[in-house]
Amino acid sequence: MKILMAASEAFPYAKNGGLADMVSALSLALAKQGHEIRMVLPRYYVINRAELKLEALEGPMGVPAGGTEEWSEVCTGLLPGSPPENPVRVYFIDHENFFGRDGIYGVPAEPDFLDNPRRFTFFCRAVFQLCKKLNWYPDVLHAHDWPGALIPVFLKFEERQKKFAKTVSALTIHNLGYQGIYGKENFYHTGLGWDVFYNGGFEDWNMMNLLKAGICSADILNTVSPNYARETQTSAYGCRLDGILRDRAADYRGILNGIDTEIWNPQNDPAIPMPYSAQDMTGKARAKELLQQEFGLPPSPDTPVIGFISRLVGQKGVGELFGPAYGSAYPICRDMNLQFVVLGTGEAWCENEIRSLAGKLSNFKAKITHNEALSHLIEAGSDFFLMPSRYEPSGLNQMYSLAYGTIPIVRNTGGLADTVENFDPQTGGGTGFMFDDLTPQAIYNTVAWAVGAYHNRRPQIEAMRKRGMEKDFSWDNSAKKYIEMYEDALKKIRK
Ligand code: ADP
Repeated sequence: MKILMAASEAFPYAKNGGLADMVSALSLALAKQGHEIRMVLPRYYVINRAELKLEALEGPMGVPAGGTEEWSEVCTGLLPGSPPENPVRVYFIDHENFFGRDGIYGVPAEPDFLDNPRRFTFFCRAVFQLCKKLNWYPDVLHAHDWPGALIPVFLKFEERQKKFAKTVSALTIHNLGYQGIYGKENFYHTGLGWDVFYNGGFEDWNMMNLLKAGICSADILNTVSPNYARETQTSAYGCRLDGILRDRAADYRGILNGIDTEIWNPQNDPAIPMPYSAQDMTGKARAKELLQQEFGLPPSPDTPVIGFISRLVGQKGVGELFGPAYGSAYPICRDMNLQFVVLGTGEAWCENEIRSLAGKLSNFKAKITHNEALSHLIEAGSDFFLMPSRYEPSGLNQMYSLAYGTIPIVRNTGGLADTVENFDPQTGGGTGFMFDDLTPQAIYNTVAWAVGAYHNRRPQIEAMRKRGMEKDFSWDNSAKKYIEMYEDALKKIRK
């Protein structure tokens, strides 16, 4: 199958969250299965053409932009980690004015660039122009989240009638909380008629909702876990789009994200002091030692370490964890014999609160920064990994934790519920500790439950670690499910 993956982020070029990991890992897994995969991304300022030795395609590319035309360059390279016999080619849309600046969607002073609707409308148009320039028409155009949501719309309302008669669109929703809602004056940049604004699902309380339009137009849709696919069809989790998702239920499914086992593997991880496996856990104890040292904690093999790595935003349960006066992190560290390490960046109040907790508690340490290597050391060196998410489309960190023999403590929601099984004290079964309600008390009680088991039921804890490490979260299975999904969509248009 010929597949063009069009995304606003991809590891290692530009990463904001799990989306970047997924786009590259899925592309590589599909290429390994023999499909022809190409990728297209904006060429952000951080993507250094010279350093990456990107080649320029000949000649500029014209992109229609609402009654006018924008000109862009295209450069290209191969995705690192590509199978040599079937490499993934990546194209970068290079437009100085739209993408030649710091930040993917924004910068701290302006978290959502004012011209984002225009930037990503341009990107979605450019995807079609790129195919025309290459004279290469994919079977599947796979778009991601609101920045890619106009791709299914342009295909349905314009391009399928032209050169893309045999192409289908797939749209993956990585997080329903981000919909790309902007003033409707921005609709002008799409070059589409106002009839499409109303018939194509753009209209949202007199604003323009890009993700909603994408959901209405995509030939096939998915999100990144079966449980989140169910949840998003309810008013509690649907972020106002539950009705439209229920409408499209026949074409909407959940496919769990995998993890990149080349990068996240305790048997071969340059960021940890010594490799380890379920058969020999010596290396995990070494990682714990180094982690305690890195964070300035006293060395103590028998004190449980709780790790937390996250974007510091409400979705991740940071209010219930770090909220001033009511958050659970303070009483957890005050009352329990444990060490707590935090790595993350995000909302200013939360960063400040975390700094203040670190000043008050000797067993609570934090680094307010983004650091890939340190995230590996925390996954390896912690005993438990905490994810009290309000909602979690798939979640990667709990799968990294399981692979590293670190027991997840998670809220029973989204992809967390699909990947973690709750501890059963009767049988000793399960791979983690779970709770239902997002309250500071529930977090406190569940951490206490886990830490109690660590101190009093050590053989069961060690058995749980090993059970987690044996789980297979590699991309092979999920990649096959994406192929089935593409095939289902193709059947619809090629009857
Ligand atoms: P989301 O995509 O909602 O942020 P996921 O759990 O799916 O959540 O993926 C988050 C990814 O970002 C993981 O790979 C995680 O390790 C990484 N990450 C988040 N914050 C940091 C940080 N401060 N330093 C290093 N990695 C981080």
